[in-house]
Amino acid sequence: MNITKIKKEDCCGCSACMSVCPNHSISMVPDSEGFLYPKVDVGTCVDCMLCHKVCIEKKEKVNSTLYSFAAKNSDPEVLKKSSSGGLSHAICREIIEQNGVVYGVALSSDSQVLIERADSIEKCELFYGSKYVQANPNNTLEMVKKDLIEGKKVLYIATSCYIAGLLSYLKYKNVMIDNLYTVDLICHGVPSPLIFSDYVRWINEKRTVSKFYFRTKKKPWGYGSRNFGCTIKYVDGKEEVDTIRTRVFLNLFFSNNCLRPHCHHCEYAGIDKPADLTVADYWGCIEQEPEFYDKLGVSAVLVHTDKGLELIRNAQELEYKDTPIEKIKMKQGNLNHPSPIANSREQFWNEYMKNGFLYIAKKYGGLNIKGIIINSKLYATYAKLKTGRSL
Ligand SMILES: Cc1cc2nc3c(=O)[nH]c(=O)nc-3n(C[C@H](O)[C@H](O)[C@H](O)COP(=O)(O)OP(=O)(O)OC[C@H]3O[C@@H](n4cnc5c(N)ncnc54)[C@H](O)[C@@H]3O)c2cc1C
Ligand code: SF4
Ligand code: SF4
Ligand code: SF4
Repeated sequence: MNITKIKKEDCCGCSACMSVCPNHSISMVPDSEGFLYPKVDVGTCVDCMLCHKVCIEKKEKVNSTLYSFAAKNSDPEVLKKSSSGGLSHAICREIIEQNGVVYGVALSSDSQVLIERADSIEKCELFYGSKYVQANPNNTLEMVKKDLIEGKKVLYIATSCYIAGLLSYLKYKNVMIDNLYTVDLICHGVPSPLIFSDYVRWINEKRTVSKFYFRTKKKPWGYGSRNFGCTIKYVDGKEEVDTIRTRVFLNLFFSNNCLRPHCHHCEYAGIDKPADLTVADYWGCIEQEPEFYDKLGVSAVLVHTDKGLELIRNAQELEYKDTPIEKIKMKQGNLNHPSPIANSREQFWNEYMKNGFLYIAKKYGGLNIKGIIINSKLYATYAKLKTGRSL
């Protein structure tokens, strides 16, 4: 029995099955929505069932939360480049300084979101900032195995489902994981790489993009602020921050029409996670821990293991303080339940296949009159008067 018959709702795309297969009979192939799924070459498959076992085992990998903290990097320059409190970079530095290697998510110059390996702090710069697209793990599971066997310290930062896949794979390969440190995220779900590449193509039609950031720190960080507006730098030196064009992709992301199907059934949408440490934005920090709030960002941290605590305690750049998990949970829907599937999801994809990107950008991505109004300064002033908070 192999993995061929797995349902889309059950597959997160971690690639553990591909990596574990002794005959290299599995490849990861994109479906019509652009998400990768395993494809088995039945001609070479010997029915060893390893792919099936590694996939089942992965669902059992969770640790409870032992401690929770508010944390921020003490270097404002790191904070500016990070999505929340710059915790990830502090931990990357710690592992690199111990001659270790870091695996994190990078955005390539041709807009591919990939897990990459870094063996220097300079290369870790690629990992700054959340990329709200499903990352391609490529063959990083095998690379981690090699690094661990060679005795290196390894830090792997990715979504919880990928961490679970990695741990299950290493177990089936009998690799010692004493030197492996894992960090996952509170996770809303991962949008389609296909929609993202169409979006970037559309942006490029008007002006050529040189750098794309999914967040901005040009507005004060905090829940409800405009820091989700994306920043786009162009080759001609111009920069666009939080305009209607820069918000389209994130509007599509938050519409829940283009997340990976498995994300709506995520087994990690609670405080128990497979990683040593979970990192997120500490939305609500301004109310819950006002003296620790920083307009450049604060991370929420859940510690699940002694190794996770070691990472926090040893990170030189980090300031942190205890905060109850209940406070963190207040503004984190995905610590309570998976993101609900949009009623319009099927219609969204039918319309996308038939009419293309611009059609769905207008209908679901706020590229319309309503979007223009919501994005205007006038609306922001009105909302502030009504709610007492900045958008
Ligand atoms: C798809 C996605 C959904 C998220 N949903 C939530 C949420 O609902 N609530 C919340 O509070 N936080 C969420 N986050 C986490 C948050 O956006 C920040 O990534 C986190 O707070 C770390 O910030 P930082 O300042 O420590 O590090 P940063 O410097 O911002 O580094 C980000 C780290 O995340 C990793 N990363 C970047 N893109 C991806 C990706 N596509 N897949 C896996 N890992 C990635 C990088 O390797 C890097 O180590 C999500 C992140 C992603 C990628
Ligand atoms: S191991 Fe991962 S990629 Fe393979 S079928 Fe299971 S969930 Fe999907
Ligand atoms: S059953 Fe064994 S040989 Fe066949 S695809 Fe799965 S892991 Fe590979
Ligand atoms: S929501 Fe769950 S299944 Fe989806 S990417 Fe995040 S951790 Fe994986």
